[in-house]
Amino acid sequence: MKKIVIVGNGISGVTAARHIRKLSDYHITIISGESDYFFSRTALMYVYMGHMKFDDTQPYEPSFWSKNRINLKKAWVKKIVSEDKQLLLENGELLSYDKLILATGSKPNKFGWPGENLEGVQGLYTKQDLELLEKTAPNNSICKHAVVVGGGLIGVELAEMLHSRHIPVTFLVRETNFWNGVLPDHDCSILNDHIKAHGIDLRLGVNLKEIHSDRMGRVESVEIAETGEIIPCNFVGLTAGVSPQISLAQNSGIETHRGILVNQFFETNLTDIYAIGDCAEQTDQLPNGRRSIEAVWYSGRMMGETIAQTITGNKTPYKPGHWFNSAKFFDIEYQTYGWVSSLRSKPEHELQLHWKYHDNTKGVTLSYNKNDLTFLGINTFGIRMRHEVFNQWLNEKKSIEQVIEQLDKAQFDPEFYKSYVNEIQSVLLATLSNSVL
Ligand SMILES: Cc1cc2nc3c(=O)[nH]c(=O)nc-3n(C[C@H](O)[C@H](O)[C@H](O)COP(=O)(O)OP(=O)(O)OC[C@H]3O[C@@H](n4cnc5c(N)ncnc54)[C@H](O)[C@@H]3O)c2cc1C
Repeated sequence: MKKIVIVGNGISGVTAARHIRKLSDYHITIISGESDYFFSRTALMYVYMGHMKFDDTQPYEPSFWSKNRINLKKAWVKKIVSEDKQLLLENGELLSYDKLILATGSKPNKFGWPGENLEGVQGLYTKQDLELLEKTAPNNSICKHAVVVGGGLIGVELAEMLHSRHIPVTFLVRETNFWNGVLPDHDCSILNDHIKAHGIDLRLGVNLKEIHSDRMGRVESVEIAETGEIIPCNFVGLTAGVSPQISLAQNSGIETHRGILVNQFFETNLTDIYAIGDCAEQTDQLPNGRRSIEAVWYSGRMMGETIAQTITGNKTPYKPGHWFNSAKFFDIEYQTYGWVSSLRSKPEHELQLHWKYHDNTKGVTLSYNKNDLTFLGINTFGIRMRHEVFNQWLNEKKSIEQVIEQLDKAQFDPEFYKSYVNEIQSVLLATLSNSVL
């Protein structure tokens, strides 16, 4: 019987294992050094915030694995000996495979800041990071002030987590607007205001220069490059993005760039070795403008489902549909479907229409192609819309005007949520007619 070994027990590796099991009788082993069981990484914040226990972040009961004949092994893989189709584990053990799937995830970025390895300085990615945070910043008498460096999704989550324990937070963001590498400035301003309204000391357009140590080797303060300001603190969270975890592949002769290089079948340059999830970098052009590296949960799940087909004999290319994502910034839910570009990345043909509620807690941005007036994408803040409706409209290449006129069809449970659709429609149609005329 074929032996399938998967390195990484995150969403991509586990989805691959589940679907391989549905489609075959192969012998399946998942190895991970981080945890005994698959857990939801996206739920780590809720453990610290006291909304759930760590055990509740496990999507499957412990019995699920034996029932589905998926062997779990907790170990670090040191090297892939591809000539012998074997894995060398840190403990010296050798494990053989017929097909190997690398699903090794990401690692937090560090930029060589002086002091970045001091006690009290950490990222937020792993279960161990959460445990360390619990020790370093359990409450505001032990951690009197925290600094979070890096303005992405994980940064704002960490700020919210610390804030939930009444720890004052200074949030250093290099960009002039929060998340303006991803969002149009109009949308960023909703988030800037919201983050500040929660009492976070948000500093925009500033860089970390150095993290200073006390006499015990613990973090004592940070220094801002632009102003030389020293901010005393007991904790520094480094959340300046993540990069694919490729060290195992690099040690083993597998081609890498930013990620582990794969084609649309997730094949690496070595026979019978594949890579999926955050760690994979596509060399083939993907449909719908999808990016070569996508470090998000839903993409990992789709990759896991797709590779299971190929592994079990039905060679299937990865054809993700339209881009979508969702997140939460304190109380504001964010959804995105299709492409709405940031100022920095906006192509010449893309135009945008904006609506914002008067208290700046809700907003909508729609993008369209100025040449043929087709709808390109939508961002929503504080308003829920239906994924499948936008997916269909993007497939049908609907015009921007039709999308605005039919926006009520995309409303999420209008009987339970207050509707802003009439107001949004009238503002957007008026702006559209002004820009098209
Ligand atoms: C705090 C946080 C919040 C997030 N929130 C969201 C969100 O709201 N929405 C969203 O879409 N995405 C979110 N993400 C991103 C999402 O969690 C990731 O895209 C996803 O978990 C990646 O899954 P994966 O299976 O590729 O890898 P991972 O979940 O990283 O799993 C990889 C596993 O492989 C193990 N591994 C690596 N190398 C080895 C080795 N040599 N030997 C053994 N084991 C190894 C790692 O230890 C790890 O356990 C968030 C991420 C974080 C950290």
